[in-house]
Amino acid sequence: MKESIWYACEEHVDITLDDFVDTYGIPPIMDVCGSLPSRAKCKWCGNKPKYQLKAMEPNTK
Ligand SMILES: [Zn+2]
Repeated sequence: MKESIWYACEEHVDITLDDFVDTYGIPPIMDVCGSLPSRAKCKWCGNKPKYQLKAMEPNTK
């Protein structure tokens, strides 16, 4: 199992959540970011993220 973390700003959190479910087939655990890794960026716009979406990838394919 591999851990996947995506980041999203406030504006794109809904679309990022949808895309996450489409990609992995599982709903992520969503948290407000506390201290961010310096390279964390919103998956959609590249701006500073506000939320973190995390899931363990199932072993498929
Ligand atoms: Zn964004």
